[in-house]
Amino acid sequence: MTEWMLSESDGYDLLSKYGIPTPKYKIVTRAEDAGSTAEAIGFPVVMKIMSPDIVHKSDAGGVIVGIGTKEAAQSAFNQIVANARAYNQNADIHGVIIENQAAPGLELIIGGKTDPTFGKVITFGIGGTLVELMKDVTLRILPIDEDEIRRMVTDIDSYPLITGYRGSKPKDEECLIQIIKNVCKMFEDQKDLREFDINPIRLYDSGACAVDARIIMDDDIHLLDVVELEPVPPEYFRPKSVAVIGASDDTSKMGYAVMHNLLHFPGKVYPINNKRDTIQGLQAYPTILDVPDEEIDLAVITVPARHVPGVMEECGKKGVKIAVVITAGFKEMSEEGAMLEERIVQIAHRYGTRIVGPNCLGLIIPPIGLDTTYVAQSPNPGNIAFISQSGAIVNTVVDWSLTKDIGFSLVVSVGNQADLNFFDYLRAAAADPETKVIIMYIEQIKNGKAFMEIVSEVSRHKPVVALKAGSSARGQAAAASHTGSLSGSYDVYIEAFRKSGVLLVHTLTGAFLAAEMLSHPKRYPKGRRAIVVTNAGGFAVLSSDYSERYGVKMIDLPDYLVKELDSFLPEFWNRGNPVDLLGDATEGRFEKTFEVLAKNDALWDMCFIVGFPNNILSSEQLANQILKFSKSTDKRIIPTLLGGASMDRGRNILHAQNIPSFEELDMMYRVVGRLLYQIYRVKAQGVY
Ligand code: ADP
Ligand code: MG
Repeated sequence: MTEWMLSESDGYDLLSKYGIPTPKYKIVTRAEDAGSTAEAIGFPVVMKIMSPDIVHKSDAGGVIVGIGTKEAAQSAFNQIVANARAYNQNADIHGVIIENQAAPGLELIIGGKTDPTFGKVITFGIGGTLVELMKDVTLRILPIDEDEIRRMVTDIDSYPLITGYRGSKPKDEECLIQIIKNVCKMFEDQKDLREFDINPIRLYDSGACAVDARIIMDDDIHLLDVVELEPVPPEYFRPKSVAVIGASDDTSKMGYAVMHNLLHFPGKVYPINNKRDTIQGLQAYPTILDVPDEEIDLAVITVPARHVPGVMEECGKKGVKIAVVITAGFKEMSEEGAMLEERIVQIAHRYGTRIVGPNCLGLIIPPIGLDTTYVAQSPNPGNIAFISQSGAIVNTVVDWSLTKDIGFSLVVSVGNQADLNFFDYLRAAAADPETKVIIMYIEQIKNGKAFMEIVSEVSRHKPVVALKAGSSARGQAAAASHTGSLSGSYDVYIEAFRKSGVLLVHTLTGAFLAAEMLSHPKRYPKGRRAIVVTNAGGFAVLSSDYSERYGVKMIDLPDYLVKELDSFLPEFWNRGNPVDLLGDATEGRFEKTFEVLAKNDALWDMCFIVGFPNNILSSEQLANQILKFSKSTDKRIIPTLLGGASMDRGRNILHAQNIPSFEELDMMYRVVGRLLYQIYRVKAQGVY
């Protein structure tokens, strides 16, 4: 047996063992016992079917409440059994449970599930029969501390129902906290406990009572342990000599394209090809072992999969530190491929060689001029490390980066991660002085606990931004069939990222904008309070809308500030926030306003500047004033230069100082909304 459901009574017993209040109960198997048993428990009682084959008892007509007499109890017994039989004639019926009827209270749900990626997860929210409809739940990955439990409670939208809503008395929040704490303990203690719903648990002005428990046990739960990984020495990512195995002169071959990009590598490059003496103008060797140079640090392998084991053996003998296996046809393809993949890892490890891939686009390290991929044009050096589970996305991002003046310290396509995986690249990027910020494109993570441990450590020093695919049910199914393994649910990923300090975004543009925001020394805004300054009335209105949608808090301007601005702004300015400097605003008007705001920067945490192009104010003038303003305060300045090419010069001035200028207002607020969610857990309508 691997999976079973506890009966209602066993469920109650388990809960009471952990100090969770449950109704008094007895089980009867004969109608004639129902009356006296009900009387002994004390009227009114509730009676429910006991059957391992009926999960939702109410749906089967298996629950009767408000039973007040012996006679009623007896007929309820017969009714429940008859209903259950009618519902499922093969159901195994163990009897009827008779329990105390708990007083009405606020119906809440406490649930738990075992996520394939992140392990035990606990949920809390509004319960009862409306639970699916309301979807007002919070979720945390175990273990959690008491503060976090308190936040689980205060974070639900319906929290006012607990503190007392419209004249109803406040509920016993402390009791609830204690119960959730006990539930967490139960979940952690009970090794075979896979998932459960305590729905509902009724919360009162004083005390609580769980009136239903669906508990699923499983004696075959596999939780991945956090594995201690051997970090890759940083010099592995600073090779001085490279061999290309399968290098070619045939432009239709992968070995041609890869070799072509490596011609720019300033170190030594050796084409390996057993049929030719030269490749793309360089002397070629039949095998890597024939290269006279003593040391080759990195080998790129493009030969067909069946030849990879032999080639790997030679690389090992030659002392290659990293083998980038571009070749596909391994685990992603077949059982046979998976075996071949295991074999190459074994061979490599025998010699201390580490593998990137297989089935990947390769590795690009722009600061040292290394590009082992076949992208059309190598990216520029910069300070973003981009780690991607999709080669196609690497290709796209690199191409796009060239037009956006974005540079990289490291670009990796992780492929099948047979040996080196997300963890290794994350650590390499963390240790790399060139890298200021890390962006990951993730389809799925195998060992969520290890991931959280490593990324939490990394994100303390360097911002980590993640784009996670598979937020839709269809997307998750696609990812599962793609890799053949179960992925954790997206909600759990959101929580795992939040908990580990990873900023989750939904688009590539968002990822790069967020990365640029975070690579500025000011990093996160110090709070949620915002002021908007603009010369565009229409965008002032949109700014207010977006602020609300993404959890940005627009402050009210105090009188003294309005007065100060009054002294130089046109008579009919709006005297409110957003501060509308009007369409004819000059550089001087912006400058003075910024000076006043900088002087009063205790009032706000971030200042959004929304500018549009016109003949009174050039984009350079505006950009220069924004830079000056940003230097005069330690609060974050977040500009959007709206418009087309006429704003590019201004945008470039800001970009050069690591201040991203957004081209679209919604995008700016959305990115800021994510930052706020990350640190202040502002749950805004538009964020997730
Ligand atoms: P189901 O299997 O359909 O979820 P439940 O055991 O939750 O069955 O019972 C259905 C509903 O009956 C509960 O949501 C709750 O409102 C009410 N109920 C169940 N047990 C009790 C009880 N002991 N006291 C008061 N109400 C109860
Ligand atoms: Mg229920």
